[in-house]
Amino acid sequence: MSDPLECDVLIVGGGPAGLSVASHLASGISSIVVHQDAEIGRPVRTSGGSFLCDMQALDIPPDLYQVIDRLDFYSDNEQASFPIENDKMVVLDITGLYRYLAGLSDTLDRRLLLGRKFVSTEEQANGLYLSKVRSRSLGVQTIRSKYIIDASGWHSAVWESLNLGARPKRTGVGIEYEFPRGNFAKNRAVLFVGSTVLTGYGWIFPTANDRLRLGVGVINPDTDLTPRQVMNSFVQGGHAARYGIEIPKEYDVNAGIIPSVPYDPKLVYGKVIRTGDAANFASPTVGEGIRMAIEQGRHLGRDLSAFIAGDKTALQRYETRAAKAYARDYKYGYMMNRRIADYTPQRWDQAVRRLARLSEREVTQMLRSNFSARLILRTIYLSLKAKLLG
Ligand SMILES: Cc1cc2nc3c(=O)[nH]c(=O)nc-3n(C[C@H](O)[C@H](O)[C@H](O)COP(=O)(O)OP(=O)(O)OC[C@H]3O[C@@H](n4cnc5c(N)ncnc54)[C@H](O)[C@@H]3O)c2cc1C
Repeated sequence: MSDPLECDVLIVGGGPAGLSVASHLASGISSIVVHQDAEIGRPVRTSGGSFLCDMQALDIPPDLYQVIDRLDFYSDNEQASFPIENDKMVVLDITGLYRYLAGLSDTLDRRLLLGRKFVSTEEQANGLYLSKVRSRSLGVQTIRSKYIIDASGWHSAVWESLNLGARPKRTGVGIEYEFPRGNFAKNRAVLFVGSTVLTGYGWIFPTANDRLRLGVGVINPDTDLTPRQVMNSFVQGGHAARYGIEIPKEYDVNAGIIPSVPYDPKLVYGKVIRTGDAANFASPTVGEGIRMAIEQGRHLGRDLSAFIAGDKTALQRYETRAAKAYARDYKYGYMMNRRIADYTPQRWDQAVRRLARLSEREVTQMLRSNFSARLILRTIYLSLKAKLLG
């Protein structure tokens, strides 16, 4: 075997989290990003719904998203529509965005190893990590690094390899068909629930490049059905017309997996650090995780740089900041996630009726997994009222 490649920071996973760590390391710190896919941003494994204010705060160029200002919810027998004036949503151009994020570290001392899968790592007597990566063309290579970032998404590849924990047993699994938008409004998104997609939900998202993404996600093992089975019965049942879309014969298929487990605030294990989906940052209500992956990835890049420069509290800061951002809200979000995974179609009808009484702000806060005391009290009140009135 040839000599190991050397770097300060090995980043496993070239998704939004890993790429954002790489772009925010200080110049002078060398990094290698190991990415198992042959390209950045392909295949697409996510549907890209997010919020305009976050994309602006993260300085994401506007040509990488479609702005959404109307959101419709459907259950079997109910419908609720929200014109969105304040917390506008967006649908991201995933391939374009991830390539943009990769480009942000092009001028740094960063190598991108594509088509290479991280296999294992071990700590050596000198405190450095020796990791094995494998590719079809080159076989096994080794990389020696001082730090390792686990940004491998739900795979939690580094974490598992070092026996720090196991990859999540409960996951959200999704599949999406992508095809030309046709007459579907460019600024309208649909979320649907009920009998066609039990334990999860479905979505219709228009993209900035005039495509439409029709997807379904379910929770494993809460259902025995795979997303493909759910999608097949959705398509064969002729449900698409209800939402004003026609599914063509030819379409692209996107599919992915996301953790669906309680938030665990421990992220730093000496010189091994988790981020993005590998740290379970995605919201438990709707599984939105791209903005968190970028934001926390950038924080980690900066904090790790400060740590390397001698600030011994910097990594603790990364852990504390993330816990402050997510621990409380995700506790409520996860409780909600568990409850709604058991909903019957009738319960979903009730829920959409209740949703129709919420303000635009309350709905978007719920989708964002931001549970203020007021929002919690109001949903409890509406739920009790619905029970009392039958
Ligand atoms: C069906 C579905 C729909 C979603 N919809 C939305 C949405 O609308 N909005 C939103 O914000 N979020 C959504 N998400 C969640 C979002 O995709 C994730 O939160 C986000 O991608 C997390 O980024 P990440 O970089 O942590 O992980 P990932 O995007 O998963 O990137 C990790 C990368 O690491 C690579 N990798 C894994 N193991 C290894 C290994 N051993 N060696 C090398 N490379 C490896 C993988 O190939 C992967 O590309 C959705 C997820 C799914 C599954």
